Amino acid sequence: MKEKLIKNIKTALTVILIIVLVGFCFKLFNIKELLNEAENKTFDLRQQIISKYKTPNKDIVILSVDDPSYEYIVSTYGAWPLPRDFWAKLSDRMEKVNPKAIVFDLLFVQNFKAFGNTDKYLSDVINSNKNIYVSMNFDNQNQEVRKPIDLPSSLETTVEGNKKLLLNAPTINYTNVRSILPELMRGTDNIGFINISRDQDGVIRSNLPLFVYKNKIYKHLTLLVGLDILNLNSNKLNIKGDTVYLSKERKIPLDKDGKCYLNWYGTLGTFKYIPLYKVDKAINENDISFLKENFKDKIVYIGTTTTSLSDVKSTPLSQRYPGVEIHATFLNNILDNNFIKKTPLAIDFCVSVFLIILTALIVIRSKFVSYSIISTVLIAVLYSLLTVLLMHSFNLWIALIMPVVSIVASITISYAIKYIVTSRDYEHTYKLAVTDGLTDMYNHRYFQEQMKQNIENSKRYNTPFSLIMVDIDFFKKFNDTYGHQSGDAVLRQVATTIKKNIRSTDIPCRYGGEEMSVILTNTKKEEAAIVAQKICEAVREREFELATGDWTHVTISLGVATMPENGSDAQELIEYADKCLYVAKENGRNQVVSEI
Ligand code: GH3
Ligand code: MG
Ligand code: MG
Repeated sequence: MKEKLIKNIKTALTVILIIVLVGFCFKLFNIKELLNEAENKTFDLRQQIISKYKTPNKDIVILSVDDPSYEYIVSTYGAWPLPRDFWAKLSDRMEKVNPKAIVFDLLFVQNFKAFGNTDKYLSDVINSNKNIYVSMNFDNQNQEVRKPIDLPSSLETTVEGNKKLLLNAPTINYTNVRSILPELMRGTDNIGFINISRDQDGVIRSNLPLFVYKNKIYKHLTLLVGLDILNLNSNKLNIKGDTVYLSKERKIPLDKDGKCYLNWYGTLGTFKYIPLYKVDKAINENDISFLKENFKDKIVYIGTTTTSLSDVKSTPLSQRYPGVEIHATFLNNILDNNFIKKTPLAIDFCVSVFLIILTALIVIRSKFVSYSIISTVLIAVLYSLLTVLLMHSFNLWIALIMPVVSIVASITISYAIKYIVTSRDYEHTYKLAVTDGLTDMYNHRYFQEQMKQNIENSKRYNTPFSLIMVDIDFFKKFNDTYGHQSGDAVLRQVATTIKKNIRSTDIPCRYGGEEMSVILTNTKKEEAAIVAQKICEAVREREFELATGDWTHVTISLGVATMPENGSDAQELIEYADKCLYVAKENGRNQVVSEI
């Protein structure tokens, strides 16, 4: 019962030590950054797996300035960017087939050609159709180049709740706003920003739904579109904790940088691409059925997809996406209410600790290395599958790298500790096997082993070695007088006295009963006789404590044998020493006899 308790306490202490050591390793190598990057890669992998099982919203289409359209534009209109009246006419005609929304995922920059009244034409079309959306972009352009402008208050978003999250987010404070035509700003509120946020490795995994500019909060173009499509009040958002609530059920979880992680829908071109040149031709030929077929009730994102305009970005799907498809993905996430939520660090930490404990317990409890390695690999694989499942079914991004690294560290450290403990256990067991329990001298078996060893050495190297046999005088009587308990106490004390008077290379043994022996390696007869004499005197001169607490004197007799002169094997040597001992007894005890 008590042993079991001690064993459990030992196990618990070992597990705690393993946790501390794993934690220390994390800290020591400052591998947080490395882990983060690796974790991001596992996010990509998970997305690649689960995106196969997702279908994108068929209402979202992309009117794309693709490679052929780009060539068409250059040969038909001279150059990119297209004049603004082109977009005005395009929107005007598309509106005839009632699209749900037309979203310009491009900036009407100053060098967009404007002819005469084209700005007015464009703003008239946009202002008279509440389903057209245009972009702006925040940046940190030097103020000498561009003075930061004030945006109309109608573009602002009121945020209730945890505004701090946005204000403190490092990625969303920019000093400038770029490219909104003054004409547009006067007439429409359908203006949203299209800033892109990249991770350290250049991959776009997330998007910024809200942006702080001059201490005011603005919406992403796509958030604006999404809220309108869902008929939600877009001007009052609520942030609770780290979640933006679009309505009671619809939410966008943010990370500490104010970003939300996107759920991807598979390979490039998940959304239908309609090349701009085909649309322009259809408009010029008044082909309404083409427009109807492609745009009726659709949310049309207009953007460049050609690589020549280099609006292509890396995504988790290890494919380069045009920005417009990323925004379409963002909208799809809003409509499906399925953003990825990263689990808090505390949960990742707890999971890691749990796995460390599990692995450590497996190592501690299992007898076979192969068993524990297979089990931990299995745990790691199952856990990895679980993380994929959690992302697939619950949009949860639970850490994979930290727990798996913890498992590996745990099994390594567990085995290191187990090795140390077992070798210590082995030493302990070995010591028990060769020691006599009463006197703490070596036991008879060890004595025999050492005799053999010394005889071999003595023969091979032609060196002497000696054996002293010790027997307590009148011990039977002693037992009869003082009792066995006191006899045992005296045995122990004689053993201590013997040990005190020999060298560390000498081997003190309990031969049996009250007889003891000392093997003196590399020792000649004369030297052994001196040692024996020393022991004899030490015993004679000291007092021995009895079990009763009284003190008394005891004497011993000793016989000495030496190899090679007194014998060539263990039996002969022991016999010779015994004979000496017998003579010592005969001669009146309490003495050493080394020659007969
Ligand atoms: P001698 O001087 O001739 O050696 O007389 P002795 O009485 O010591 O005779 P012998 O060596 O034959 O006696 C052995 C006695 O030692 C017998 C036994 O009572 C006692 N003895 C042997 N082993 C132990 C032990 O482990 N504990 C105790 N208390 N006594 C032991
Ligand atoms: Mg005896
Ligand atoms: Mg005796």
